[in-house]
Amino acid sequence: MPRRKIIAGNWKMNMTPSEAVELIETLKPLVVNEDVDVLFCVPAIDIIPAVEAVKGSNIMIGAENMYFEDKGAFTGEISPAMLTDAGVKYVIIGHSERREYFAETDETVNKKVLKAFEYGITPIICCGETLTQREQGVTIDFIRQQIKIAFLNVTPDQAASAVIAYEPIWAIGTGKVATTQQAQEVCKAIRDCIAEIYDDAVAASIRIQYGGSVSASSAPELFAQPDIDGGLVGGASLKADFGQIVCYNK
Ligand code: PEP
Repeated sequence: MPRRKIIAGNWKMNMTPSEAVELIETLKPLVVNEDVDVLFCVPAIDIIPAVEAVKGSNIMIGAENMYFEDKGAFTGEISPAMLTDAGVKYVIIGHSERREYFAETDETVNKKVLKAFEYGITPIICCGETLTQREQGVTIDFIRQQIKIAFLNVTPDQAASAVIAYEPIWAIGTGKVATTQQAQEVCKAIRDCIAEIYDDAVAASIRIQYGGSVSASSAPELFAQPDIDGGLVGGASLKADFGQIVCYNK
């Protein structure tokens, strides 16, 4: 069965609750594409009004982060039960900004991935190399390590339903998009790694996004690659351009 594309916006730390509702109203008619799962990953405080605002549309609401404990004395954190109760089905885990500014490691990513699955939330597991790693020729080795640790103790059924976002760090928010060949090469290597850890069926089912300065002009070629199943989009997800990205095949 062909994999269904999934195109997600990552709003990062942008949009107040009222701005979020306004943006959703603007984007709603622009992001209709029956071939694509459309997801807006929004700041925690925007989740409840956003879930309300997308009712009756094809848009799903996701979170940008989640803690790996059920509940308790973890001031400032958001629990998986809070997300499911609010209507969230997806959560971004291990974005490079969280790894860089909030000390997330492959190990905490793995804990969060396991906890998300426990609560029936699909993780969008981020991986990606630095410019130095790319220039040193260690990109694939590095990404394989990130993937292997992220999927420790994840069952085959869980893995088959997961989403991985390949986001070269040098391409995030820089306007420097990876070439189609670079993106496809790494997404294929990720799929091969999943086949090694599990089997060909899991590898054929898992969805792998490309992220890093995706724009309306780069999306069609990127998303046409055999191992790229959509995108994780930062800056362009806050603009009408996101409609063109979602409708990349129209
Ligand atoms: C991101 O935040 O995941 C991202 C890819 O950002 P941008 O599209 O702005 O590079």
